[in-house]
Amino acid sequence: MSGHRKLTCGEAVALLYDYLDREGAQASIEDVEEHLQICRHCCDRFAFEASLWKVVRRKGSEAHCPESLKLRVSKLLDDY
Ligand SMILES: [Zn+2]
Repeated sequence: MSGHRKLTCGEAVALLYDYLDREGAQASIEDVEEHLQICRHCCDRFAFEASLWKVVRRKGSEAHCPESLKLRVSKLLDDY
C-alpha cells in the first residue's frame, strides 16, 4: 500500500465520469474502486450514477447527447 493515496469523497466524485467511462488513468480507477470499498456514501452514489450511465450509454447510440446529460447529472450531484 506504499505510495497509495486515499481519495477523499470529493476527489472520488471528481473521478466519477473517468471511472464510468474507463478513460481515467488506471491508477485513478483503482483509487476510486478502493474508495468505494471503504465509503458507503460514495458507494450508494456511484451505484446510482453507474445505472444512470448505462442508460445514457444505451440511449447514446440512438440520440447523441451525453454532454448535456453530464451537466444535468452534475447539477443533480451538487444538490445531493
Ligand atoms: Zn466517499
